[in-house]
Amino acid sequence: MDWNAFRARFHLPDGVIYLDGNSLGPMPVAAPERVARTMDEWRDMLIGGWNDGAGGEGWMSWPGRLGDRIGRLIGAPAGSVTVGDTLSIKVFQALDAALKMRPDRRVILSDGGNFPSDLYMAEGLIGALHRDLDLRVVAPEEVADTIDEDLAVLMLTQVDYRTGRMHDMADLTARAHAAGALTVWDLAHSAGAHEVDLTGAGADFATGCTYKYLNAGPGAPAFIYVRPNLQDAVEPALSGWLGHAAPFAFDPSYRPGAGVERLRVGTPAVLQMAALDAALDIWDEVDMAALRARSLELSERFAAGVATRCPALTPALASGVPRGSQVSFRHADGYAIMQALIARGVVGDFRAPDILRFGFTPLFVSEAEVDGAVGHLAQVMATAEWDQPRFRARRAVT
Ligand SMILES: *Cc1c(COP(=O)(O)O)cnc(C)c1O
Repeated sequence: MDWNAFRARFHLPDGVIYLDGNSLGPMPVAAPERVARTMDEWRDMLIGGWNDGAGGEGWMSWPGRLGDRIGRLIGAPAGSVTVGDTLSIKVFQALDAALKMRPDRRVILSDGGNFPSDLYMAEGLIGALHRDLDLRVVAPEEVADTIDEDLAVLMLTQVDYRTGRMHDMADLTARAHAAGALTVWDLAHSAGAHEVDLTGAGADFATGCTYKYLNAGPGAPAFIYVRPNLQDAVEPALSGWLGHAAPFAFDPSYRPGAGVERLRVGTPAVLQMAALDAALDIWDEVDMAALRARSLELSERFAAGVATRCPALTPALASGVPRGSQVSFRHADGYAIMQALIARGVVGDFRAPDILRFGFTPLFVSEAEVDGAVGHLAQVMATAEWDQPRFRARRAVT
């Protein structure tokens, strides 16, 4: 694939090496125009924009249409993914639906590499369900051996947001199924980062966001996948009107809509979906196997450079452990080091308590930038440039 051509489709400020597309992807060049077009539709069509045809844009059907395009990237067939809300909400919905399918079991298993919001949502859901449920959180490498016949749902984020460690989705799903349990996979650091095959893995539910690797912009909607033959058994807890079988019948009580559509909740964020549409125009052309190969090349180049030139930084992941599309290091002064690096125009992020995290997103990161980032980091470390009060002062968003 022509990586330079992909890079030209993103806005990247001059002088910045952006290794943070795994937190907030950069803006597609086509996004402002695409969003402006939707603004025009709003201006000119008013409420008519919701419908298809007769000049309408069919905003109401976008969640499913965009979901199908994301589906190609994650091995999900048409009609199994819908877009909306935020990832935390989608995790709640998926876990709730899965738990209801295992009423006689009481364990939710997750790991310490999961993103806290997923665990918080599980805690909140347990409180709301008034069922005797137990959230067990074990170390990532202990997950496989903790799966037993008490397990209702295995709820994991495939790629650890701190270390980058990647779970074997097919293997763990097979183990969960053999024990009679269901799986909820969070693809926040997988969708757009590497190949995912939900169908091949037999995954039951999956969720993810579109503002990280997928580049749909701050606050862009999340997505949710349900295995096709489970969809009709889903009983949504967040039973909003747009997940109803006939929203405009205005029935006084809820009846679930067809398939994955029942996991829609309320009015979709149309302007954000327009930005996602522009981002997916790029993704529609990406060969995920080639992207994965390139991502590993860039990651390994960076890891090797840092290992040679920055011995004080400890790799967060042992070599040989499968990783996503990021490289992380531990250092007690990681926060200040990252701030010093950002001041030099190399943007990564810090994750408490001690992780420096760098995302490698082949659509816009080049080899020269990887080498440049290693050089800056080596200088920051060699001269203890980070050891200044201005780099130690913590900001609200790290
Ligand atoms: C980024 C991320 C989230 C964020 O959830 P939002 O509701 O979109 O803020 C949740 N879970 C995981 C695993 C993430 O990486």
